[in-house]
Order: sequence, then C-alpha cells, then structure tokens
Amino acid sequence: MEGSRAHRRRVRRSFHTRSLTRLNCAGYRDDALHRETRRRSPNASPLLQSQRVSLSFHIDSSTGKARTGRLLTPHAEVSTPVFMPVGTVASVKGVSQDILEDLGAQIILGNTYHLYLRPGIATVRRMGGLHGFMSWRRAILTDSGGFQVFSLNELRKVTEEGVTFRSHLDGSSHFFSPESAMEAQIGLGADIIMAFDECTEFPVDRARARASMEMTARWAARSKKYFEDHKHEVPWKNEDEGTSRGHVGAAVPTQSLFGIVQGGMDRELRKESAERTIEIGFPGYAIGGLSVGEPRELTREIVESTLEHLPKDKPRYLMGVGTPEEIVEYSNLGVDMMDCVLPTRAARHGLLFTSEGKVSIKQARYAQDPAPLDPNCGCRVCQRYSRAYLRHLYASNEVLAQVLNTIHNLSFYLDTMRRVRHSISLGVESRFLSSVWSRPRP
Ligand SMILES: [Zn+2]
Repeated sequence: MEGSRAHRRRVRRSFHTRSLTRLNCAGYRDDALHRETRRRSPNASPLLQSQRVSLSFHIDSSTGKARTGRLLTPHAEVSTPVFMPVGTVASVKGVSQDILEDLGAQIILGNTYHLYLRPGIATVRRMGGLHGFMSWRRAILTDSGGFQVFSLNELRKVTEEGVTFRSHLDGSSHFFSPESAMEAQIGLGADIIMAFDECTEFPVDRARARASMEMTARWAARSKKYFEDHKHEVPWKNEDEGTSRGHVGAAVPTQSLFGIVQGGMDRELRKESAERTIEIGFPGYAIGGLSVGEPRELTREIVESTLEHLPKDKPRYLMGVGTPEEIVEYSNLGVDMMDCVLPTRAARHGLLFTSEGKVSIKQARYAQDPAPLDPNCGCRVCQRYSRAYLRHLYASNEVLAQVLNTIHNLSFYLDTMRRVRHSISLGVESRFLSSVWSRPRP
C-alpha cells in the first residue's frame, strides 16, 4: 500500500517536472537572458551592449486586458508581466544573488529609505551603485522612500516642502523632499526609479484624499524636474570605461523615472491623478497607495478603474501586491509589474504557498511526512527535501529553514508568472487553480 502510494507520487512528480520544464521552455526568454548574461560575464560590463536604451517597452501578445511584453532596461530585458522580489537592504532576505539568478528573477526591488539610513547613499554610489555594491547584473527598481516614511506614523511630519522623519534605527531626524529622494535614487543607480509621493492612509475623508493627491501631483513635477537635470550623474556611467566597448561618444543609458497615481479609494480622484501624472509625462506609471488596510474587493475595483486611465503602450506597475491569486488576477487586468514582501516574509514565518494550498510547516502533521513540500513544484527545495526535514529545520530555528522556505516561495511566485505569461501568449486567461493557493492545505 505504502509502496504503491510512493510510486504514484514519483510518477506524478516526474510528470510535473516534465511539464514545468516545458513551461520554462515556453518562457525561454528568461533562460535566454540567463545564458546571455553568463556568456557576457563575468568581467564584462553588465550594461547591455547591443541595446543601449534607457527604457523601452514592447507588447508581444494580449488577450482580453492582459498582455505580455518585454521591458528593456539598461541592465536586463524583463519579460512582463513580472513579479519583482523585494530586496529591502540590497538583499532578498535569505537568498544569495546566484540563487536568485537560477530562480529566474529578472528584476528586484530595493528600498531607498532603508539604504539611505544604512549603509548610506554615498557608500553605495562609491561601490558603483546597487548593481556594483550587491553584485547584481540584472535590473533593479527602487521605490522613492515615500511609502516607508508614510509607514512611520508618529515619526513623521509632512509639509509642502517634504517629509521630516525619524530613523527607526536610532531615532535621528531626517528630511526627504522630491529633490532629495531623486538625488538618493540617482546615487543608488537602479534602472527604474520612482517619483516621491504621499501615500494616503485608509480610511480617509475626501478632502484629505484630494489634498494628498494634489500634493503628490506637485511632487511628481518636482521629481521629474530634478531627475531631468541630474539623470546623467548615474553611478554606472563609468561601467564601460576600461573595457573594449567603452568607446568615445557612446551614449550611456540613464535611469528611468516612473510616476505614481494616488487618490485613495476614490475612483474620480484616481482618474484625475492619472490624468495629471500623464500630463507631466513619464515612461511608465505606477498605482500606489493600495494594500493599506482596505478590503480586497476595493483594491481590485480601484486597480481596474485606474488602469482604464493609463496609457496602453507604457508599463503599468501595481505597487505592493499581493497573494499568488492576486498576482494572477492583476496580470489578467493588464498590470505589467508587481512587487510584494509576502512570499519572502511569509516564508520566514514558515508559511509556504503550494499548488495544494498554504502550508504551515510548523504543524505536527508534517513531522514524519516524507513527501516534498509541493509535489507539483520543480524548485530545488521540493526536488530534494521532505516536509519532515523542513518542519524539523523550522522547529529547530535553523537559519537554513528561512533560506529553503524563501527559495520555495519565490520559486512558486516566479513560476506562477511564467505560467501567466505562457497562458496570455496562448490567448487564454490564466486562472489555474489559484483559488486554492492561499487557503490552508486540506
Ligand atoms: Zn518548491
């Protein structure tokens, strides 16, 4: 009885491994990018040689509102829709850069607020920006620091000029303005940087939401002005010097600045915010100020209505979402880029997303379970370790528990996005079994 069950599991696993490989092949651009990067490496400049553009966006296929595309940045080509793992302090917690590459992460996110406080912008700039400092050759996006400062609550004071805040590390006082947030992000040197915005709290009255949205629009204009005046000060402008391709007169690509739409949970204010941000003009647009405590239905409603007002030929970035089901759902609505701490943070707490539902690995039921965490997952953790071992590592508070759990969750998210892109390219909406993913595993 036991034997035949194990056999069935092996057969099932080998089938799923094969089908995952096929899916990876369908999303071959990830692999092609990987090979390309390896071939040019290790000593070559990470700046893409043949396509020296600051940013370009091509839509390859679409079905309904969803689309697949390629986002060309100075350091990498990114297949969209894409999920960006969060590397708050120049580190995706628990996972080294070579593993992130193997998982197929094409772009990661850094947090300006944290890096500004530690190790400081000047240090990162001196090390060649974030790419040089953390030895990451693919694309990076930084946020403006606005959302983190907003999260400090009692530690901040907002005026037209900017935000005064206290460090969560040592209580020291600091000031961010649209100009200084741009200066910091230019020093960090990410491929894509974000305008400085005010994230409105939830719930909020309409007058406050309007005032906040209007200030965000004024801050967007100030952000763009400072960026345009200083964008050539990027720390990787010397990456080509000393190499064969550093020839005189070659145009060095710059970073790209995205605008952010705010307006709280008010559809009219969101529309006005989108129009005003588009009028200022950016190569990409983000929807900010969501996932701040509002019900999920409302998030979806605001995302859907805001997307209608954003240009179809520019990348659209939904900030700070979501669960595995949500990243599928928002891709279907036409979102091209997403980021969230959920897969990494949940992993560190022993919460793992699987094709059979959410697993809390600390549960006693897994203590002697020889099965892989997710029999349908092709990641290096599920291919090698049992639930019993993962449960033991977690119960023993081993560092390896956080590492392996994070690798699986990120792999689950990145594989999900590969499948989404594959489905869209075939002209079908990607629903899969995503309705079960965040429910506890039966
Ligand atoms: Zn796995």
